[in-house]
Amino acid sequence: MHARFSEQDEVFRKEIAGWLEEHLSGEFEPIRGRGGPGDEHALYDERHAWERKLGEHGWIGIGWPKEVGGRDLSLSQQVVFYEEYARAGGPGRVGHIGEGLLGPTVIHYGSEQQQQQILPGILSGNDVWCQGYSEPNAGSDLANVQTRAVRDGDEWVIDGQKVWTSGAAWADWCFVLCRTDPEAAKHKGLSYLLVPMRQEGVEIRPIVQMTGDSEFSEVFFNGARTGVENTVGAPGDGWKVAMGTLAFERGVSTLGQQMSFQNELEEVFEIARRNGAARDPVMRQRLADAWIGLRIQRYNALRTLSGSQGAELPPEAMITKIFWATWHRDLGKLAMDVLGQPSEIAAGEPYDLSALQRMYLFTRSDTIYAGSNEIQRNIIAERALGMPREPR
Ligand SMILES: Cc1cc2nc3c(=O)[nH]c(=O)nc-3n(C[C@H](O)[C@H](O)[C@H](O)COP(=O)(O)OP(=O)(O)OC[C@H]3O[C@@H](n4cnc5c(N)ncnc54)[C@H](O)[C@@H]3O)c2cc1C
Repeated sequence: MHARFSEQDEVFRKEIAGWLEEHLSGEFEPIRGRGGPGDEHALYDERHAWERKLGEHGWIGIGWPKEVGGRDLSLSQQVVFYEEYARAGGPGRVGHIGEGLLGPTVIHYGSEQQQQQILPGILSGNDVWCQGYSEPNAGSDLANVQTRAVRDGDEWVIDGQKVWTSGAAWADWCFVLCRTDPEAAKHKGLSYLLVPMRQEGVEIRPIVQMTGDSEFSEVFFNGARTGVENTVGAPGDGWKVAMGTLAFERGVSTLGQQMSFQNELEEVFEIARRNGAARDPVMRQRLADAWIGLRIQRYNALRTLSGSQGAELPPEAMITKIFWATWHRDLGKLAMDVLGQPSEIAAGEPYDLSALQRMYLFTRSDTIYAGSNEIQRNIIAERALGMPREPR
């Protein structure tokens, strides 16, 4: 495990810190610290302009191979980037699904033509992507996807409903898991299609969440179309590609979020020092536990990534999601307990919440999305520990 940074990494740290200091100013000053979980509507256009600025200076896809336009930076340098980005109060990234999920999937499973057509839009910060997996009857049981795609000449025609689609209201494109062979076995009749969102036949209905924001939406496909060249992998290979995307979701992209957890934790410490909560012996234990939990996450992430080979992550990766999700949900509760009674009061109407109040509400979903805690336990039992499969 390489948990220390080299001299070269520290030189890179100065470069990125300096760049952020210089550019997160002027017109971009107001977006510092905005747009995180539960705050997705905040200053969206400004944050999209920021995404383009990152792209213009080559700060998107920094871990991607040079042949496809990335910087091919080492894992430790990617960690350094996320650390400095969080330290500088870098805003929630509008392009994170494209950069963290779809881009690596296309690099790994896509054709050369798809790489040439799709990756530049992500690298420039222009194209925004969303993930069309879940449906009303296909969440944990993802292979139950019922959205259908039928070939019509050189196109797929798509009908069905997705739900909980994060960022759909802003997205240009969606990667959609569709059933293309209804006769085939559950996991085998699926295909992974890239579908333009701005077309007749795609209807987006935002869902209001308890933060007051609509980070996710229902998406209805009524005869929506996409070219057959937008199939990633062969028709029928959708399950394999979709699982590949989920592996990327557990990979480098989780490092970024740990660094923003650090900022949230420091805010909680600051309040506890100020309002006297830190003098309470039980609260002190909880604060110390939270600090330790964050260190464990960081070292496990570094251990995981240094043991990975290409897209294949080692078994340690399987504990990452349940650990961070549970830790972050508990941090939300801790933050409210440290705040005490003021945690129950909004500054104004409606939903004029503080960052910590939003965090508390949003973190209730951490143990659900990207595989619920129960599903994570099944994954660990079956795939990491080799226990008998759950009875179906
Ligand atoms: C904030 C947020 C953002 C999301 N963004 C997206 C997105 O962008 N794109 C997308 O496609 N989806 C997205 N989702 C959906 C998410 O992936 C699903 O909510 C998740 O997979 C769970 O599915 P479900 O909601 O249908 O619950 P269900 O699968 O119906 O589960 C209900 C309960 O039963 C438990 N359960 C289910 N099966 C088992 C089992 N075999 N063993 C033990 N317990 C079980 C679950 O753990 C859960 O507690 C998002 C969800 C949230 C909350």
